[in-house]
Amino acid sequence: MLKFIALSGTTSVTENLYVYEADNQMMIVDCGVGFPDLEMHGVDLVIPDFSYIIKNKEKLKGIVVSQGHEDHIGAIPFLLKEVNVPIWAAPLVTEFLKDKFEDYGVRDFTINTFNVDNDEFKVGPFTVYPFRVTHSVPDTCGFAIDTPDGRIFHVPEHKMDQNPVDGKGFDTERAKKLSEKEVLFLASDCLGSNKPGYSPNERSIEDKMLEIAKTAKNRIFATAISSNIGRFQQMIRVAKNTNRKVIFVGRSVQKKAEMANKLGYLDYEDCVIGLGEAKKLSKSNLFYIVAGCYGQAGSSVYRIATDAHEKVWVEEGDMMIFSADPAPPYTKESEDFVVDELIDRGVDVHYYDLNEGLYVSGHGCQNDILELFKITNPKYFIPIGGTIRFMNAYKKLAVANGIEENRVMLLKPGDNISLNNGQATKGQRIATKEILVHGLGVGDIGKVVLGDRAVLGNEGVVVVVIKVDSGGRMVGNPQIKSRGFVFEKLGSGLLRDAEKRLVRQIGKPGKLNQKTIEQTSLDYLENFLFQKIGRRPMILPVIVEV
Ligand SMILES: [Zn+2]
Repeated sequence: MLKFIALSGTTSVTENLYVYEADNQMMIVDCGVGFPDLEMHGVDLVIPDFSYIIKNKEKLKGIVVSQGHEDHIGAIPFLLKEVNVPIWAAPLVTEFLKDKFEDYGVRDFTINTFNVDNDEFKVGPFTVYPFRVTHSVPDTCGFAIDTPDGRIFHVPEHKMDQNPVDGKGFDTERAKKLSEKEVLFLASDCLGSNKPGYSPNERSIEDKMLEIAKTAKNRIFATAISSNIGRFQQMIRVAKNTNRKVIFVGRSVQKKAEMANKLGYLDYEDCVIGLGEAKKLSKSNLFYIVAGCYGQAGSSVYRIATDAHEKVWVEEGDMMIFSADPAPPYTKESEDFVVDELIDRGVDVHYYDLNEGLYVSGHGCQNDILELFKITNPKYFIPIGGTIRFMNAYKKLAVANGIEENRVMLLKPGDNISLNNGQATKGQRIATKEILVHGLGVGDIGKVVLGDRAVLGNEGVVVVVIKVDSGGRMVGNPQIKSRGFVFEKLGSGLLRDAEKRLVRQIGKPGKLNQKTIEQTSLDYLENFLFQKIGRRPMILPVIVEV
């Protein structure tokens, strides 16, 4: 019996994590991170729940990776802390992983690098056949997988484009060949399922960028997501065609460009120089490729836009080209901020809202999805990698094209299907939750801490220190301090008033119970401050024995 578990990644665009089980053995496909939403104050990353995997770790034979984007590889270092199994990845993904492991201090790992065009490998009872697909990072693949119950297809992200910038498009021939056997199910990218037609080709971007670059008199800065090697190639060619040298700024773009160059995926065209050399050239001969296309705080784009970068700055007459997806959740605010900062500094900014054709999606639209349906012709269909609306649109698209409704399986995180004699049945959902990462802490933050952080952020904190002697009697008056609540100077009248009133509430003489003092202070101050000023800060009573 084959079991397919969507542990994470079906109802979200990120945090991909899928498990295959057969013959009492397990294989994972992809293990990515997600990004915190605006309510998750301070959270750096969101990772999938590994509880089920850890519970069954004896069964786990390996992790197979489909591409180098963070939402497919980012959580692997966290998983490797719990289980040590080999990883299978394409060459560029292997390099990305090694770099990531170095960052996380993961030393004990095995990566088996496969050839996307013609390899096959065994992971436990599964034989995996990768095939090339088009996406916004090179070496992305889909998989045909032979299981003891038959062949399935797993295509996390794809567009059918045959002619991407690197010339290596979707390998229709191999996918078709692998589909000659009966296909039990297809789990595939649903993110473009509500957009008609085919996902556009990215080659047109270069002409648009060149046209814009030709109008620049000063330096040009350009940014794209740091794994978009194809876009870097286009930028390098635009630079060359406008007689400029290219300088990479920011660790992520520098590293990724180096890796891609080493593997032959990125041609520097004798155009790339260092920051030092750039000083000797005239401004009209410079083209900077900068990290931080979403304007993330601390990124190179952010620091340049806010004039906080040690080595690179912008001035009036410079140009900045954003060539990135405008849509990832929770990034719009920071992007808008850097765009405004740059414009305010006199920079000619070409950004997403201007619709200048400087970006195309790496995901397929309806026709790309239908073409994959046609090639694989599976018995069952499973939409992955999109939110509910995309899963729904994928189902509608299938049904509109003659596929019976019960052949499309919508799986929420933890949902799973079992295949018995070719018949799929849904099993009981495995309980999962999102695991939050902040600094070095993993999973030590949840609803309660986030709730406190929201109160602290919105209302501030009021600390009341009450001294008691060994006999349990209050010593002196309570002292109130606040942070993020009111200007202490302006609000001191209110706080001193509260101190005096609190004495009366607690009652000075006699032995007092610590718990009672705490609760009384809390209730009284909460009420008093709300009455007086209409705010509800976090109140923290501290009882000190003196
Ligand atoms: Zn991707």
